Amino acid sequence: MTTHLVWFRNDLRITDNRALAAACADVDATVIAVFIATPGQWRRHDMAPRQAAFIYQHLLALQSSLAERGIPLYYQQCELFSDAVDWLKAFVAEHKVDALFYNNQYEINEVARDAALDKALSTELTLHRFDDSLLLPPGSVTTGEGGMYKVYTPFRRAFLQRLSESDTRSLAAPQARNNPYKGQSAPIKPFDYPQEEVGDDFPIGEEAARDRLRRFCRENVQDYLEQRDLPAIDGTSTLSPYLAIGVLSPRQCLNRLRAEHPHALEKTDGGAFGWLNELVWREFYRHLLVAWPHLCKHKPFIEWTDGVRWRDAPDDLKAWQAGKTGYPIVDAAMRQLNATGWMHNRLRMIVSSFLVKDLLIDWRSGERYFMSQLLDGDLAANNGGWQWGASTGTDAAPYFRIFNPTTQGERFDKQGRFIKAWVPELAEVPEKDIHHPHQWAEKQRRVLDYPHPIIDHARARKDTLAAFETAKSRA
Ligand code: FAD
Repeated sequence: MTTHLVWFRNDLRITDNRALAAACADVDATVIAVFIATPGQWRRHDMAPRQAAFIYQHLLALQSSLAERGIPLYYQQCELFSDAVDWLKAFVAEHKVDALFYNNQYEINEVARDAALDKALSTELTLHRFDDSLLLPPGSVTTGEGGMYKVYTPFRRAFLQRLSESDTRSLAAPQARNNPYKGQSAPIKPFDYPQEEVGDDFPIGEEAARDRLRRFCRENVQDYLEQRDLPAIDGTSTLSPYLAIGVLSPRQCLNRLRAEHPHALEKTDGGAFGWLNELVWREFYRHLLVAWPHLCKHKPFIEWTDGVRWRDAPDDLKAWQAGKTGYPIVDAAMRQLNATGWMHNRLRMIVSSFLVKDLLIDWRSGERYFMSQLLDGDLAANNGGWQWGASTGTDAAPYFRIFNPTTQGERFDKQGRFIKAWVPELAEVPEKDIHHPHQWAEKQRRVLDYPHPIIDHARARKDTLAAFETAKSRA
């Protein structure tokens, strides 16, 4: 009897899972599965308790969908990756596993773990690894000289060309199989890691994620370009938490998009292409991470920016975290993050710019705080987004491009609908004054229970430009 083991990681789904599909391809093999929680690693990366709960809930759902197919999901908690490798070695011996199947992860510690795993197990069993969490494997989209692109637009051009030649079909969930282990995996114990409730905005399960994808592609994609920057409107897919832990695959996104909008790849000025473009940004940041692994260590892509003298301003950092900066759009955004674990992309751009370019606080403090709160926390996308806003990344906003938080609010939340939803202290401020609430309050001789701006934007802008210019001139 042949035994195949599937190691689930960031791919918590049964549909279109390459490792699982390959393990199940041999109809005579016994297939078993495992998930190893590593709270010590999560702590090192400040994984959000909400994301831990999201993973846990999906693990329970995964265990039950696998059980319906006769595949037991075993669960183990190990503190660190090194412990996980040791434990797995004993597990494969105990279960007489002939072949191990897993989907690749690309972060530096995960890569080191898998290298150790290969070393420990390759003489004892066959290892089958798959590129599953991206549309195209890292390293497969290269410049004429064979290197990774540093600029997004030519990357996208080459990426789409390569994509059109690639097989990106989604794979079906495996059929139910006859399995002597059926029903024998124990219930999964809660992780030894703080968990925080995930709200109703993000229902659990692959089906819920696929429904959301279907609905978005059918009803919203055509308006994506007009609506994607307006936080008061549900104009984006809100699929990021599912993509981040692999409840949904990017191929499923692409194929659903193509099914609803067959010419999505050709019509470059439409909403469908606009949405595809975001999926390609997701790929770009992951491909970058593999080409420049030091990004995983939170090093800036542009080295001279390491010389910027950041302010040590713990009170300002706390005010930013709590949504109490006195800039209504920044505060509404931070409160949305703190309450739900999700934040609209335009707002992520505004608040990251505010932390770095107004408060002149090291972007890594913001990156870390985001990870500690985000339901969709993802090292590559988060690091890419922060380095973009901080002007430390490749193809990032130039350092002299500094968002004005007030005009950003006026532009993208004109009537203050989003602000009012999250900052109740401003409920009575009229629409036209919502971005300058204290000026309105003064005229009305009223006192608002809302902070005055903690920094003057015009002055902060000058200080930031000077700090970047000094660092650049010293490089
Ligand atoms: P949609 O607009 O519907 O886009 C579809 C999918 O494309 C998203 O679900 C996401 O997987 C991907 N995507 C969209 N925009 C980007 C982008 N700019 N970069 C990379 N992928 C993208 N995204 C994360 O998934 N995890 C993070 O930790 C994260 N941190 C960020 C930090 C900062 C400072 C910034 C500026 C952006 C960050 N993003 C992150 C990217 C982006 O903000 C979110 O992916 C997006 O807001 C999720 O909403 P959505 O699913 O409705 O996106």
